[in-house]
Amino acid sequence: MTPGLAGAVASPGVGSASPVGSRRRPERTGSVLPDETAVALVAAAALANTTTADDARPDDAALDRMAPLLDTGEGPVCGADDLRTLRGLRPRVRALWQTTEDGAACAVNDLLDEFDARPRLVNRGPWGYRLEVVPVDAPLATRFAISTSIAVADLLRRGEFRRLRSCARPTCHNVMVDLSKNRSRRYCEGRCGNRAAVSAYRSRLASGVADDRDPSRDLPRR
Ligand SMILES: [Zn+2]
Repeated sequence: MTPGLAGAVASPGVGSASPVGSRRRPERTGSVLPDETAVALVAAAALANTTTADDARPDDAALDRMAPLLDTGEGPVCGADDLRTLRGLRPRVRALWQTTEDGAACAVNDLLDEFDARPRLVNRGPWGYRLEVVPVDAPLATRFAISTSIAVADLLRRGEFRRLRSCARPTCHNVMVDLSKNRSRRYCEGRCGNRAAVSAYRSRLASGVADDRDPSRDLPRR
C-alpha cells in the first residue's frame, strides 16, 4: 500500500468501477484488491477511526486534520461544508464495519441515492472511455461518500466483505481493512501488534515457558 493516507488517496485508478476519477495512470499497490478499492477503504477506515466504536467520543479535531488528506488534487478542496458532511457520515461509515453483508448493501444503496451517484462515460484520452461514478467536480465529501460506497460494493461483489475488520486488541476501537493475501491481519496500523507481542511474551514469562528469544518474533505478519 502506498505509504500514508495522502499518498494512498491521491493515487486513484480509472476504470469501470473507479471510485475516484483521475487522469493519472493507476499506481500498483500490491494489494489483493484493486487499488482504487483498497485506497477508498483505507480512507474510510481512517475517517471511522476518528471516533470510538459507539461514537460516544468523536474526535472532530482528528477528523479535521485528516479530511484534507482525502483530497485527490482534482476537485474542490476541503471546505467547512465538507467537514460538516464528513462528521455526519462518520458513524455511518463506521457502521459498515459493524453490520452484515445485507446491512452493508442497504447502506451502500442509501449512500448512492443520497449523494446522487450516476455513472457517466468519460473520455480518458489514451485510456479511452471509462464508466465513472464519481464526478471530479463534486465536493470532497460527496466524492468520499461515493468512493466509499463503490469500494464496499466491490468488496461485496467479490465475496470479500470480511476484509473489513476490527482490531483484535481488546482495548483498541479501531477498524481496519485486511489487505493481506491470506486474510490474516489482526491488528490496526497503530502499535497494537507490538503491544500484543509484548503481552504474549510476558505471559510466557509468567508461565515459565518463555525463552530468551526476541519477543518481536510474535509480531503479526502482514
Ligand atoms: Zn488497534
